[in-house]
Amino acid sequence: MNKAAQLEASELLKNADVYPSYQRIMVLASLFESDEHPSADALFKQLGSNVPTISRATVYNTLNLLVDKGVIRSLHTAGAETHFDSVSETHGHFFCRKCKKIYDIPQQNTEVKHELDGHLVESQELVFTGLCKECRE
Ligand SMILES: [Zn+2]
Ligand SMILES: [Zn+2]
Repeated sequence: MNKAAQLEASELLKNADVYPSYQRIMVLASLFESDEHPSADALFKQLGSNVPTISRATVYNTLNLLVDKGVIRSLHTAGAETHFDSVSETHGHFFCRKCKKIYDIPQQNTEVKHELDGHLVESQELVFTGLCKECRE
């Protein structure tokens, strides 16, 4: 596993007031290395070869903690599983209903609202669904 990713992960955890334990660092670092928006399960499998001692529960709990702390984002797609994203800049997603891949797309021209009907907006999730360019062919 890439040392720079681990270092970055450790810094992000500290900045978010999360104790940077080895397992947390490894979970976050492996999310950095994946551009596939993995589910918790996929990430657990990916981690298995690097951190054989990590448990599925640790991966789930760490991901949920990191979402709570705003370090990563969770994505809800038409699929059953929740996917996770380490990219913090605002961007949208395109979910392919056929191959189930999630693509990053540039933020569309939707106005970012800070208040809706008196509710305070903290984040907004933009997910388009359809057929990706590979599945269209
Ligand atoms: Zn597709
Ligand atoms: Zn993304």
